[in-house]
Amino acid sequence: MPLDDPAPPRFGHGVSVLVELPKHAGLAGTLSYLAGAELPPGQLLRVPLGRRVVCGIAWGETDRSGMAETPPIEPPSASLRDIAEVFHALPPLGEGWRALIEFAAAYYQRSPGEMALSVLPGDLREVDGAGLQRRLRRLEKRLGRTPPPPPRKRRSAAADAPVPTVETAETVPPPLPALSEEQQGVLDALAASSAEPVLLHGVTGSGKTEVYLRRVAAALDAGQQALLLVPEINLTPQLEARVRARFPGRVTVAMHSGLGPAERLQSWLAAHLGWADIVLGTRMAVFASLPRLGLIVVDEEHDPSYKQQEGARYSARDLAIWRARNEGIAVILGSATPSLETWHNALPAPEGSGRYRRLSMPTRIGAGVLPQVRLIDLTRLQEQFGRQMLREQPFAPQLLAALRERLERGEQSLVLLNRRGYAPVLHCTGCGWKSDCPHCSAWRVFHKLDRTLRCHHCGFAERVPRACPSCGDPDIQPVGRGTERLEEQLAAALPGARIGRIDADTTRAKGSLEAQLAQVHDGDIDVLVGTQMVAKGHDFRRITLVAALQADAALFSSDFRAPERLFALLMQAGGRAGRDAAQAARSELWIQTWHPQHPLYAALKAHDYPAFAAGQLLERQQAGLPPFAHLALLRCEARTQDAAVGFLAQAARRAAELQAEQPAWGAILVYPPVPPSVQRVANVERAQMLVESPSRPALQRFLSAWLPSFHEEARQAGARVLRWAVDVDPLAI
Ligand code: ADP
Ligand code: ZN
Ligand code: ZN
Repeated sequence: MPLDDPAPPRFGHGVSVLVELPKHAGLAGTLSYLAGAELPPGQLLRVPLGRRVVCGIAWGETDRSGMAETPPIEPPSASLRDIAEVFHALPPLGEGWRALIEFAAAYYQRSPGEMALSVLPGDLREVDGAGLQRRLRRLEKRLGRTPPPPPRKRRSAAADAPVPTVETAETVPPPLPALSEEQQGVLDALAASSAEPVLLHGVTGSGKTEVYLRRVAAALDAGQQALLLVPEINLTPQLEARVRARFPGRVTVAMHSGLGPAERLQSWLAAHLGWADIVLGTRMAVFASLPRLGLIVVDEEHDPSYKQQEGARYSARDLAIWRARNEGIAVILGSATPSLETWHNALPAPEGSGRYRRLSMPTRIGAGVLPQVRLIDLTRLQEQFGRQMLREQPFAPQLLAALRERLERGEQSLVLLNRRGYAPVLHCTGCGWKSDCPHCSAWRVFHKLDRTLRCHHCGFAERVPRACPSCGDPDIQPVGRGTERLEEQLAAALPGARIGRIDADTTRAKGSLEAQLAQVHDGDIDVLVGTQMVAKGHDFRRITLVAALQADAALFSSDFRAPERLFALLMQAGGRAGRDAAQAARSELWIQTWHPQHPLYAALKAHDYPAFAAGQLLERQQAGLPPFAHLALLRCEARTQDAAVGFLAQAARRAAELQAEQPAWGAILVYPPVPPSVQRVANVERAQMLVESPSRPALQRFLSAWLPSFHEEARQAGARVLRWAVDVDPLAI
């Protein structure tokens, strides 16, 4: 602005606005701007920030019910800039939503601005007022609606907007299935309202989805919105179709990262305006703005995908529970194999905390039985047939016979192997060379189909050399087995069988997973080879045999959650078998193992999740691990391992100082820095440090006091330290 052009006198209201600033920026949560009129907290708007105009949210303290603005400033401070634009067409984000953001930001140690803006759809952050109007008109047309209600002064304007109905031809609800006794019992218990979160512990095929749908129906009848969370995008289409068919007159929208940006904004707007009755989505959907929210369902609550693995590393399951409690609404967690944290909360004292209500459905619909579990002792097999044979044909003769039987009966089998590619490593018999990755502390995987050696950590790929790059010996051999090789070996062992494979390699192209799943459903495949990707949720009616070939690694993993994940995976995989009651009687889950005596397998054989959980909880208690302790993981990435460890060691010294100042933090343990299982990825060295506390609030306060020192430390370390992050309640350590 030229100096001789004095600014006109301005009058207005100072408004604190949340914009996307990382905590690292060292700025307070909000920035102040000047508005022409009072703005309610939660109002979406656009403000100038530096040279850009960015999306922001009028903010206020959520524990005060007042308005966000400070008293009118006269004359306004010269440094305050004007708000660029207010999105009057949108009601403000509700108090529940704002409270969720503030809680999540504090709990996961991020700035509220980053938290709030990062969970809004990208298109909403970019769009201007005119663009927003266009999108709203498009949405109105799609849903056959009248324009949005005019903005109101007070909060939660949309809450008292009329409940929408869409006038369509097929609003006739389909006939409902008669409930099983167990379903009826659970629904009766759920209808008797209670404030606690509910764990619905039901075996695969017990009809949990029907229970969810009945509760959704009840919420809709009460004029509320329902939020259904599922772990995987792949699982949304199946459920979405079922939900739409069940509630034809209602508006159901999806929210997951597989949607295009335009569609995502449409879903978000429909939810926020209260036009959508049902939101179905993956973890990000826990942040949907839902003014009439009355029910949250978290299906497969144990699934690791509910934990975000970058940025704000939130757990959508945990946030769903917080949100439900804060908004005073019902939340149902469903699983056949609950996470041990949830199970512990659902066990009555003194074994558990008794915080959740547990409802069980132990039998399958239609008297379907659970698959019989058969363990094959690999030690015995090796004694019988020798090491070499096992390498060439990794199936026990009994398993092969069982696979052939399925073939003859026209039934399908699923063979699980959690490793893609042909072989995990190539090896030179002459000099001992192995196909390591030059950029990572990991082997490169041999992919036979495209003749490459590919690193699954950094993506580095090269053509397979003809001879050993180290000594020139042409005799380089694949070691071990991935899904590609398994597919080949199965084809050799079962001539004439139609073998299919589903893993991250075969499903890279958009739509290919759906196409391959359709092939399985249509019966075009006899034996399906797959990674854990196929074990989840898919309703394969004709599969009567599931086999897991190399499950053991998880039994002795350094990650204390590995057995829990293995048990869930095998139960879930077994749940794929015999979903058709007529075939259930002869459905089987085969496991080849070196440790047939392991208690995990004994519990699996008996389909006894409670026994498995009891054993695990005892171990966790003795070892002082979650749910008996609370963890945070501080991660650092640097140019050298020394720099990464140095950063963490300095942080540890700072932690010790804090603990000396504040005796209440004495119980918090800060472990020495260690390299993670893969220490170097893409030439970046990584190190991590575990923090353990018997008390969650103490850990929270400690982290908030501790973290600010890292910014300064990272600044001092300069270019040597690339990144650091704190992961609260880490899933993998
Ligand atoms: P879960 O989610 O517990 O694994 P589902 O909800 O998928 O189980 O139910 C398993 C199968 O049983 C589905 O095909 C479903 O349509 C069917 N089903 C569920 N409840 C009933 C019922 N009351 N009567 C008949 N079939 C049912
Ligand atoms: Zn060699
Ligand atoms: Zn690599």
